[in-house]
Amino acid sequence: MNIPAGIKAVTDPKDMAAFLTGVRGEVGQSRGVLLPETTEAVAACVQHFNASQTSFVAQSGNTGLVGASVPDSSGQQAVLSLSRLRETFEPDLANRSIRVSTGFRLSEVNDRLAEHGLFFPIDLGSDPMIGGMVATNTGGGRFLRYGDVRSNTLGLTVVLKDGEVVRLGGPVRKDNTGPDWKQLHIGSCGWFGTITEAVLNLEPVVTEQATALVVPSSDAAMLTQLRHLETRVGPLLSAFEFMSKAAMKHTFAHAASLKNPFARGEIPETALLIELSRPTKAPWDTPLDNVLEAVLSEAWQLPETPIEDALFGRPEEIWALRHALSEGVKSAGPLVAFDLGFTRDKVIAFRAEMTRKLAKDFPMMEVCDFGHLGDGGLHFNLVKTDGPVDPKFEMRLRDIVVDHAVNTYGGSFSAEHGIGPKNYRYFEKWNRDTAVSHKSILRLG
Ligand SMILES: Cc1cc2nc3c(=O)[nH]c(=O)nc-3n(C[C@H](O)[C@H](O)[C@H](O)COP(=O)(O)OP(=O)(O)OC[C@H]3O[C@@H](n4cnc5c(N)ncnc54)[C@H](O)[C@@H]3O)c2cc1C
Repeated sequence: MNIPAGIKAVTDPKDMAAFLTGVRGEVGQSRGVLLPETTEAVAACVQHFNASQTSFVAQSGNTGLVGASVPDSSGQQAVLSLSRLRETFEPDLANRSIRVSTGFRLSEVNDRLAEHGLFFPIDLGSDPMIGGMVATNTGGGRFLRYGDVRSNTLGLTVVLKDGEVVRLGGPVRKDNTGPDWKQLHIGSCGWFGTITEAVLNLEPVVTEQATALVVPSSDAAMLTQLRHLETRVGPLLSAFEFMSKAAMKHTFAHAASLKNPFARGEIPETALLIELSRPTKAPWDTPLDNVLEAVLSEAWQLPETPIEDALFGRPEEIWALRHALSEGVKSAGPLVAFDLGFTRDKVIAFRAEMTRKLAKDFPMMEVCDFGHLGDGGLHFNLVKTDGPVDPKFEMRLRDIVVDHAVNTYGGSFSAEHGIGPKNYRYFEKWNRDTAVSHKSILRLG
């Protein structure tokens, strides 16, 4: 591969390995990896790829779960790694925003902002880079309070497909001067260009948290509980996550350092992680631990008695379990994972019906699900208990689950992980109309 001047390149197969392997074990082949350091260098790379008719895959933290951040197996694609894009880090404290190059990792952005008492409020179990987060519109565990990346992005700098650099939006929050073109690039996985810089909304760091693991008395009781909390504590509620017994069981087995908090270590069918939090506590405020205890005792008294048990604990310990679930389930065996989105009532109905259906038609698949009940996100993970998953079997299973989620329950087949080889098939099938309207919008533009 010819390399544009001044841009670091990796072509040695040994050194390329990390860029070719995804977190779910997918492995691609590549002609080479380019690592530009500036927006202009990204534009030069894109022009170089166009001139040499080389297709490329943009890669940031490479933590994506749909196989879209690694090249395919043809060996003809290049990788454009954005991990060295770190030229800009400019917090604007008065505006509570930051202009940042997209090669920074989330953890580094938040570590550097801590001295100003601010953070970028997307929370998840991996440590992606800002570019990948914008491209996939990351959700995460505190969506309920802060929304997704889309709701926290004010502006973008993008290198379009022809190498032109455009700046879309900016730190001004109120701006109604025309269509919000940056939205085309949020959650669209780099189809329309490579994102090199972002202007992001920041939030005050949380200084008080109260967290509990709650055992609901039934699946339906989870929603009763959620509605109760929203009515009683409103914006203090920052997370409402659920975890199935199977997911927790595999996670405790995988991560020896995790403490099993349940009485006698007996894991319940389902547990809810409930968090209240706030940035400041005024002297007259009741401590959040007391507020959480009070609202949970109220729930206990409701006619439907939605709670069977509640364990209060240190937030770090409870969140450690939640954040370890993804890897815990992965360690349990060959995995077929779905990232589904529903209206909140449908999450419960879908998992109940699908679990019954799978027990009958696919008894070798163990349902190890968990999710963000507060925002309708469901990580419907199926672990195969009798050996490897062959591609035909996987496709049949995927077709059934996705068809049910989308057609029967009106859900989404990609709630927060974006589009990639793992779900292209459904994108083509169900998004044909959307794709057509995108084309018309682009023609108008
Ligand atoms: C343990 C674990 C837990 C996770 N939990 C969550 C969760 O709770 N919520 C959630 O939403 N996701 C979750 N994820 C998925 C993943 O971390 C997110 O999708 C993340 O935002 C991907 O960012 P990345 O930097 O790793 O991007 P990558 O994986 O490198 O890329 C993802 C996609 O974006 C494209 N892309 C990357 N950078 C750019 C760019 N600069 N310009 C244009 N396109 C680009 C890539 O081509 C690819 O299509 C989890 C993953 C793991 C491993």
